[in-house]
Amino acid sequence: AHSVGPPSLEPYHALSYELWPPRTPNAAETLWRTIRELEQTSPDYVSVTYGASGSNRDTAFELLGRLLGETSLRPLAHLTCVGHSRENLENLVDELITRGIRGILALRGDAPKDTTLPPGDLSYASDLVRLVRETERRRTAHLCAGRLAVGVAAYATKHPESPSFDHDVEALLAKQAAGADFAITQLFFFPDQFQRLVAAARRAGVEIPIIPGLMPPTSVRRLDRASELAGLEMDHRLRDRLAAADDDAARRRIGVQATVDLANAALDAGAPGIHLYTFNEHAAALDVLEHLDLRRPPVRGGLGRTA
Ligand code: FAD
Repeated sequence: AHSVGPPSLEPYHALSYELWPPRTPNAAETLWRTIRELEQTSPDYVSVTYGASGSNRDTAFELLGRLLGETSLRPLAHLTCVGHSRENLENLVDELITRGIRGILALRGDAPKDTTLPPGDLSYASDLVRLVRETERRRTAHLCAGRLAVGVAAYATKHPESPSFDHDVEALLAKQAAGADFAITQLFFFPDQFQRLVAAARRAGVEIPIIPGLMPPTSVRRLDRASELAGLEMDHRLRDRLAAADDDAARRRIGVQATVDLANAALDAGAPGIHLYTFNEHAAALDVLEHLDLRRPPVRGGLGRTA
């Protein structure tokens, strides 16, 4: 795609996707089709989740390695600290750096349902950000002149365990003070929630970019599951519309439109880009991009508006 007219001085919007390490060979096949489709959109990075129990560690590391070795994509490795010893975490960060990873999303994580994890050495994600920065400092020779990009989670609605929304904003400030470079939000369903978070965060002194995390809800089941996992208040209007839709195509249209509306509201509120929770599927994510006026660098497939 070629730009027409004078170049825009506005910065490009960031674009990224979340992927899960596949659990079965079939899931791996679907994932790799998705990866190849998403690669065409030249995202800034793709993030790879990490199971807080550590049970998917090997598949996560394998996926990160293949993304680095076999694609043009830049992976961002999620890492959680709940149930991990300090030594274990230092070794994991060390290994990620050695394998060529240059971006880590530092999270606390949640023990999987009906599971008790051993007591870990770190209590909060901000402790993990600090540990990542300390490990990075010891490894500067390996990183040469580079530096790790460290992301953290933010919440446009209150975190389920938190006493208040303001408490979460303080937690975000602590993550910034510990060395975080950027934040990605948990899902949210109502446009004003993102704006409220950014306003409260800026008032509190948070200066790092806050990127809205968006999930196209393409079925009632997905909406229910995502709301439950994230501990969110249900968007009943959206749920009713999905439930009343005739077929998958209609549900996808509804889910995509809802996501485009949320993304536009966030971009209007100054969001520096978007992060899409893909559920390892590309169709809805690509639909969202097609309907969104993102300022992106020129890409092979011509998706997005070039500035
Ligand atoms: P924290 O920032 O530590 O916050 C946890 C709770 O502690 C909050 O209630 C917070 O307000 C409170 N808190 C924080 N600091 C303090 C403090 N100093 N004093 C008192 N209270 C404090 N989970 C996974 O298991 N694997 C993943 O790959 C994964 N990826 C995610 C990606 C994104 C973009 C997001 C938004 C979430 C992801 N999660 C993942 C879920 C995340 O692990 C949970 O939301 C978890 O419950 C909190 O993680 P956190 O990093 O926000 O923790």
